Amino acid sequence: MAIDFTLTEEQKMVQKTAREFSQEVLKPLVAQADAEPDTQKAFQIIKPAYVQAYKLGFAMGFLPKQYGGGGVSNVDLQIVAEEICAVDPGFACILLVNGLGLLPLAWFGSEQQKKKWIGEATGDPTGEYLAGWVVSEPAGSPGGTANFDHPGAHPVGIGLTATHDKANGEYVLKGQKYWPSNAGGWDLKGANVNVVVVRTDPKRGGKEGLSVILVPRGTPGIRYNQPISKIGQRLEQNNFIEFENARVPEENVFAVGNGDLVISKAFTWSGPVAGIAAVAVARTAYEWALNWAKTYTAGGREPIIHHQAVGYLLTDVAMSIEACRALCWKAAHYLDMYNSEGHAIGAMAKVFSGETMFNAVFKCMQVVGVNALDKLNPLEKCLRDVVVFPLYDAGNMGMQRRKIWGVIADLNFDPRAITDSKEIRFKKSMEGWGTATANLTT
Ligand SMILES: Cc1cc2nc3c(=O)[nH]c(=O)nc-3n(C[C@H](O)[C@H](O)[C@H](O)COP(=O)(O)OP(=O)(O)OC[C@H]3O[C@@H](n4cnc5c(N)ncnc54)[C@H](O)[C@@H]3O)c2cc1C
Repeated sequence: MAIDFTLTEEQKMVQKTAREFSQEVLKPLVAQADAEPDTQKAFQIIKPAYVQAYKLGFAMGFLPKQYGGGGVSNVDLQIVAEEICAVDPGFACILLVNGLGLLPLAWFGSEQQKKKWIGEATGDPTGEYLAGWVVSEPAGSPGGTANFDHPGAHPVGIGLTATHDKANGEYVLKGQKYWPSNAGGWDLKGANVNVVVVRTDPKRGGKEGLSVILVPRGTPGIRYNQPISKIGQRLEQNNFIEFENARVPEENVFAVGNGDLVISKAFTWSGPVAGIAAVAVARTAYEWALNWAKTYTAGGREPIIHHQAVGYLLTDVAMSIEACRALCWKAAHYLDMYNSEGHAIGAMAKVFSGETMFNAVFKCMQVVGVNALDKLNPLEKCLRDVVVFPLYDAGNMGMQRRKIWGVIADLNFDPRAITDSKEIRFKKSMEGWGTATANLTT
């Protein structure tokens, strides 16, 4: 009886709490925040829901228990994330990014760093604490993010440099970041902490030259600009950050020379969550389109579900939702078994669900017809939200597929390992695949 998809009584309770929160606290704020052209104002509109989510354990619950977190499993996180994302995936992304930022510290940080920073994040009595996960960089040549593991020296790959000023015991940060969520904080003076991937050795490639540094709110020399205006998932704040010789204490650095492994693992942990988020958006679209098909006649005598074309489309959508949810749950379970090591299956859940659910939402729109485009109906927002999934959280083309490729290309890869839930150790040699001049031997 090891394979069992039924929820325990505790899981049903968690699901109920997440559903009630989403419907009663979050939903009333969504339309206004989504329509708000000022991206920072939109972020502030949903702050009361964030505080409530924090108090319910949804903002920091996935952090380890010994540092004040809830120790919530990846499987249980699937249940909570689906309910919140069915109402608004942009809001859920704010919660997720606390994990993207702080779990790397739990995996790679020192005991002292974990106690201090995770302890602060989990022990905020105001419930406003935000952590940023700061990797992505502005477009340009050089620029972008996908080739973070490129073997070339600066300026290819990650461009934000952190120069060690040993005499003063500090790192000096210079460069820009673009896209990181939460990083600007509620007032554009910075999140409580930003977990920033930097280039500590500009002479070495992405597999040796990257590290991670904790940048506290209030650090001088950092400008947080007006957040980016996106087409979808607008409740979530994406930042453009400029570092002009910002000085950060050297005790804040971790994973020196292994920033690449941090990126690969963090975007593995988030894979199944992004996957189930896409499932949730498609679920919302499907339930609405199904009801429409059962009640709308389009000028005929019968509701349109009596047309085989409509029935088949909805059948395809229903099947794909179930299949993607099962894959995400399997991936989450695998991550629970191996301390979030599961780089191939984590990425598979994200890539497959993001793209399949994008198609599912479009199929729902085909069922509904032209009225799917009317902003009075929910499908246009579903489309704007679902298109984000294949592109964000380490884009499917430039990052997540490359990671799966690197794992399965390994000479010792066992093609049945994922089916049999056997451990696959991720190695540096699995990185760098598909970067223009990758040296795959290190
Ligand atoms: C809602 C949202 C939240 C986000 N939150 C964060 C966050 O908290 N922190 C953060 O750091 N970032 C964040 N991002 C950015 C996000 O994680 C992106 O996935 C990341 O910046 C990489 O984007 P990209 O893959 O398009 O990279 P780019 O470097 O811009 O690559 C662009 C395209 O080039 C092609 N390409 C490039 N290199 C290769 C290659 N080697 N092989 C094949 N194709 C290639 C691919 O088609 C790829 O899509 C967020 C974005 C959004 C929309």
